[in-house]
Amino acid sequence: MSYDDNNIFAKILRGEIPAHKIYEDARSFAFMDIMPIAEGHSLVIPKCPAADLLSLDADYAAATIQTVQKIARAAKRAFDAPGVFVGQLNGEAAGQTVFHIHFHVIPRDGKSAPFAFHGRKEAASEILSAHAAKIAAALE
Ligand code: AMP
Repeated sequence: MSYDDNNIFAKILRGEIPAHKIYEDARSFAFMDIMPIAEGHSLVIPKCPAADLLSLDADYAAATIQTVQKIARAAKRAFDAPGVFVGQLNGEAAGQTVFHIHFHVIPRDGKSAPFAFHGRKEAASEILSAHAAKIAAALE
């Protein structure tokens, strides 16, 4: 996916617009989501131009997931949350709205309505097997 230098998170990284910073290191940056879907909802982004996970440099991916882990642990402690959701969308079809790769880190209290994420029906074994083979064959 092509990268637009003027996306909102690129502007935050350049300090052109404000953000509620939690943490940063040489390769990653964590800040509060401006429209939280639960208390403590934050975002973690790499400090490199990549629109989605698929186009992210592997070293930055490694650094970013380490920061996600750090923020998830801290958010769990800070909000006394029994669980933490970590999510990440790639492409408009998946619901992505800001095209600088980011991870959502969201404390979950176990009482609020669950996200509509899990399927409701187990798939046939031969379908799962065929799909596993299809993805495996597309590995690079
Ligand atoms: P996604 O749909 O995964 O691309 O999520 C983009 C997220 O960015 C949404 O949860 C927005 O609330 C959040 N967002 C958009 N603009 C800002 C901003 N200026 N500062 C912080 N979060 C933002």
